[in-house]
Amino acid sequence: MSASCLFCKIVAGEIPTTKVLESPNCLAFRDIGPKAPTHVLVIPKKHYTSLNDLDDPALAGELLTMARDIAKSEGRADAGYRIVVNTNADGGQTVFHLHVHVLGGRAMKWPPG
Ligand code: AMP
Ligand code: ZN
Repeated sequence: MSASCLFCKIVAGEIPTTKVLESPNCLAFRDIGPKAPTHVLVIPKKHYTSLNDLDDPALAGELLTMARDIAKSEGRADAGYRIVVNTNADGGQTVFHLHVHVLGGRAMKWPPG
């Protein structure tokens, strides 16, 4: 837990959120500023500042499979969806607790801006 971290506060229940799914190691909740009809964030409960710091391949797998499960449960699997992990400044990361975006419900542009 990082005392100043927004997503650690969500894990601790200190900031309200709309929970989508929870497992022992991961939490998924709706993005407060959705960029698509489905926009869910999947995070490890343990604080990692970014993907650069993730040292646990099993946890990486849990995050990715939870993201996939949410795309399915939101009904986006067949039409398609996008999984994004913005990392540091050039990646567009603004919250420095590792998170996986699950975006669906509209066609995504490629390449991203
Ligand atoms: P990123 O730019 O990849 O770091 O994404 C951070 C995301 O966190 C943005 O899409 C924000 O809309 C989202 N966000 C910020 N604060 C909250 C919050 N309190 N609850 C849910 N999502 C949030
Ligand atoms: Zn954190």
